[in-house]
Amino acid sequence: MLVVDEIEVRYGQAIAVAGVSLRVERGSWVALIGANGAGKTSLLRAIIGLAPHRGRVVLDGADVSALPAWERQRRGFGLVPEGRQVFGNMTVEENLRVGGYTRDVAEVRRGLEKAYALFPRLEERRRQLASTLSGGEQQMLSLARALMTGPKLLLVDEISWGLMPILVTQVFAQLARLHAEGMTILQVEQNAREVLRHAEHAYVMSAGQLVLDGPAGEVARDPRVIESYVG
Ligand code: ATP
Repeated sequence: MLVVDEIEVRYGQAIAVAGVSLRVERGSWVALIGANGAGKTSLLRAIIGLAPHRGRVVLDGADVSALPAWERQRRGFGLVPEGRQVFGNMTVEENLRVGGYTRDVAEVRRGLEKAYALFPRLEERRRQLASTLSGGEQQMLSLARALMTGPKLLLVDEISWGLMPILVTQVFAQLARLHAEGMTILQVEQNAREVLRHAEHAYVMSAGQLVLDGPAGEVARDPRVIESYVG
């Protein structure tokens, strides 16, 4: 579904991503782990078109490398950004509608029904301002908003950040449910232990480069990964 070829991201003279290539098969769940500052977020932002980059991004056979972010999103990328980034002064439902802004009225209606079926808590709070939600609820909203775009591929950045353990378990269960329904997921995650338990394949980044990849179970047993990221 996704082919990423020799992606390079620079901030001025600094190289954040130095020629990374990876693949995500349709229907798979792929983890991307690595230390702080390894370049994981920059790589995700390049894939979706939010960071200027060199290299090629191919979604479902179409080269989208030259397209702006909004056009890539329309082609099937959904992003759950680092730090949730919900619109605090808008209601829950308004946030969801923003997620569906490229879709027609019937698709938005179906999207809302699906979001509320998946996250009943959001339906209960649909008229509340997003700023009044708890951290876990805001994370749910961020995920539901990404789903409103009707993505083929979900890019998930640090979804467990700042959540207490019970909510981490819940949010992974929600991703597992989406995956079971066929969603393709590329997930950047500090919580290596949890993501390697769920994903099928894993890539490890260090200092802007990929240093290891393989089936997630094998990566989880790699002594270098245990020492640096799993503990
Ligand atoms: P984290 O888990 O801390 O978010 P990461 O692996 O996602 O880390 P990035 O956020 O992609 O890594 O950062 C990669 C490198 O690029 C870091 O050295 C970071 O300081 C730098 N960087 C990120 N964004 C910018 C920016 N907008 N301007 C300049 N440098 C940046």
